[in-house]
Amino acid sequence: MSKQVKVLITGAGGFIGHHFVKFLKEKGYWVRGADIENPKFEKTSVDDFRLLDLRSFDNCMQACSGMDHVYQLAADMGGIGYITKYYASIFRNNGLMNLNMLEAARKSGIKKYLFTSSACIYPRYLQNKSDVSPLKEEDAYPADAEPGYGWEKLFSELSCQYYMEDYGIKTYVVRFHNIFGPFGAYEGGKEKSPAAICNKIAQSKKNDKIEVWGDGRQTRSYCYIDDCVEGIYKLMQSDYHRPINIGQDRLVTVDELVDMVAKIAGKEIAKQYDLSKPQGVRGRNADISLAKKVLGWEPRVSLEEGLEKTYKWIYEELKKSRRL
Ligand code: NAD
Repeated sequence: MSKQVKVLITGAGGFIGHHFVKFLKEKGYWVRGADIENPKFEKTSVDDFRLLDLRSFDNCMQACSGMDHVYQLAADMGGIGYITKYYASIFRNNGLMNLNMLEAARKSGIKKYLFTSSACIYPRYLQNKSDVSPLKEEDAYPADAEPGYGWEKLFSELSCQYYMEDYGIKTYVVRFHNIFGPFGAYEGGKEKSPAAICNKIAQSKKNDKIEVWGDGRQTRSYCYIDDCVEGIYKLMQSDYHRPINIGQDRLVTVDELVDMVAKIAGKEIAKQYDLSKPQGVRGRNADISLAKKVLGWEPRVSLEEGLEKTYKWIYEELKKSRRL
């Protein structure tokens, strides 16, 4: 029998990491999780969970020891309100984590290393209208990334490229575009728009107005978590080592997103626009033709289906904590 592959998932206490642990366990991998925090909503199914601050190189060495593959999902991140508030600490925390993890992976003889980048690396000058063209991987340069969080991701993408060129470690870089689903933050400041809207609508009473950041006409595309984990797994099985988008290419306005959640909740919702809140770029969509071509991957879960699952989960969480 071939040796069981041992996999490290960093950020295993977080949203995507937690889902990915379940996905790999079902496939029969031996999985170690590392995170500075335990998963918040459900017990982890990893074989070995280590509470580690991955800004420290020694902790990264401990996390990588005995592993074959690494999925580096740990990051200091949140929605637009969070990443536009803490530029310096996000830049430093993620920079330290990514450099130390990559070096520890190299020193530990890791065979494959996947880094999770973001749509926030794409130039702002390509995203200044609602009706945007979908972003292709080669659009990244000339760079004009999201301040702080986006520039650090670009820096770490390049670190992966240089480590592969100079040391031969096989690196993979995925650029996620708005991943959403159950078991993600829905309050506390780190939540993103789908979860934030589900939370507000679930807690709203008759005639309440839902606060919407911006004028509601900014656009995004949203990818459900099950499609995301399938995508990163396929990438790690491939021979593709340049950055690649994983996301959806269906563009919706934030207004439309609110209306979809209201329909799922069976509520009539009035909107209160707050133009003083951060909105990020005006429009952002993913071109996923490269992932279709080189990975044979495409999203299967519709936005409506994904939102329904997310809304139900948030609703149940609120009920458990007696807020509904
Ligand atoms: P998340 O915040 O739910 O998970 C990140 C995890 O990293 C958290 O559990 C956090 O505790 C952990 N972490 C933070 N600092 C740490 C430290 N010093 N040491 C150890 N662990 C630490 O985020 P997520 O949505 O699961 O994102 C996973 C990855 O995907 C991140 O790299 C993120 O930047 C990237 N990404 C996510 C999205 C998205 O839509 N969710 C979009 C683009 C990129």
